[in-house]
Amino acid sequence: MSDDYDPFDDDYYDDDGEGPPCPRCDGDGIVNCYCGGDQCYCENHGEKDCPLCYGEGVADPARAEKYLESEREMMAVMRKAWKEAEAKDKERGDD
Ligand SMILES: [Zn+2]
Ligand SMILES: [Zn+2]
Repeated sequence: MSDDYDPFDDDYYDDDGEGPPCPRCDGDGIVNCYCGGDQCYCENHGEKDCPLCYGEGVADPARAEKYLESEREMMAVMRKAWKEAEAKDKERGDD
């Protein structure tokens, strides 16, 4: 028990058992479907329940961490690909 607890303090985070807003949908509970927008060819009309938080807007911290981790891995792979493409461009470009 902390003496700092003030039930009338708006800043006090009192959503017991809930994690921070889902990193996939920023707490909206919905994400753009991959086909997205006007030409949506799935049946979600451009939006679907967030696959990370199942539309709750709050992801389980363990799941959120896993998502962030796989996102970091993806970024690392993409950066590597960019660098390789850049290097190839340079090889070609120096005429
Ligand atoms: Zn769609
Ligand atoms: Zn979400």
